[in-house]
Amino acid sequence: MASITIDDVTKEFGEGAESVVAVDDVSLDIADGEFVVFVGPSGSGKSTLMRIVAGLETQTEGDVEIGDAIVNQLGPRARDIAMVFQNYALYPNMTVEENMSFGLKMSTDMSDDAIEESVTSTAEMMDIGALLDNKPGELSGGQQQRVALGRAIVRDPNVFLMDEPLSNLDAKLRAEMRTEINRLQNDLGVTTLYVTHDQTEAMTMGDRLVVLNYGELQQVGTPLECFYRPENQFVAGFLGSPSMNFFEGSLDGGTLRADGFDYDLTERMQSSVGDRNDLVLGVRPEDLTLHDEPTGGHEFEAVVDVVEPMGSISYVYLQPRQQDHEDTFIAETDGQRPISEGSEVYVEIPDTDVHLFDAK
Ligand code: ADP
Repeated sequence: MASITIDDVTKEFGEGAESVVAVDDVSLDIADGEFVVFVGPSGSGKSTLMRIVAGLETQTEGDVEIGDAIVNQLGPRARDIAMVFQNYALYPNMTVEENMSFGLKMSTDMSDDAIEESVTSTAEMMDIGALLDNKPGELSGGQQQRVALGRAIVRDPNVFLMDEPLSNLDAKLRAEMRTEINRLQNDLGVTTLYVTHDQTEAMTMGDRLVVLNYGELQQVGTPLECFYRPENQFVAGFLGSPSMNFFEGSLDGGTLRADGFDYDLTERMQSSVGDRNDLVLGVRPEDLTLHDEPTGGHEFEAVVDVVEPMGSISYVYLQPRQQDHEDTFIAETDGQRPISEGSEVYVEIPDTDVHLFDAK
């Protein structure tokens, strides 16, 4: 097992006007045994960063350390890592057993008996013991992904690298495998980097999230830290579904003047904004409350555009009355509460549970 250090790593593809900075001066320390999730939208540099750790891509600048050794000059095989990909990358002509044992036969001096024992016990652990003689084409997507994971585990590597491993599975299987990967990582304690664009996966897996956008680190923290204390508007908008609502406004004394409502900042909020003037107030859908009558609190009037029943909760899409722009906001309400589309409501913004960001 090993720690990983990513030190001022930049990756630029191409040159001159055509070049793309896929990873922009990223530094990160990952502890031995830690489960770290790289999350961000498509094109944010997650895979490139992981491929640099794997040795499949060479950084333009910076160092990668695995354990205490700088591995910049080492190829993937010499780094003692095992990768799991979205497309499983199994050998179609080999049986499950051959797929799982191939890496061990190529890279270790283990005896055939020891390899067989290791493959069999890992297959049992992954619940694919009955499939050892099958070829990948005879297996479901979920079973193939179990084989791919089993193949990585059996190699007993220093580090697991997983790049969107669940993207090809249906929603139910994805949720099951999410739990299973969490359990495995916990049991095996192997340092794991996991790439996903899916914020649900990011929130439910991993000790820490590394949020990326345009190749730049946005925030590094536990899932709850990133969710409850987002460092910027990007992180706030990316984590959470539906996304956080954002209200633009400008500060006038201790009051934020937004379209359609004024919002009094607490002293703590005022001290956190410094001398900024143009701000964005962020409120998650679950923190907005809908009323039929004005309450005298921080609120704006809106018309209910669409109600999306989800079962125990509903998402209510709101068109503000007094706003010039076209923004729609979303509130979460009790699923049993009847709300009709087209009705007028007062949308209460809480006194706490709000976030303030610099206007972009
Ligand atoms: P993500 O994994 O977050 O979707 P990637 O790391 O795949 O993002 O890509 C980051 C950026 O680098 C994108 O703009 C992508 O187009 C670019 N990129 C990735 N690989 C290459 C490559 N081999 N050649 C040129 N550009 C690339």
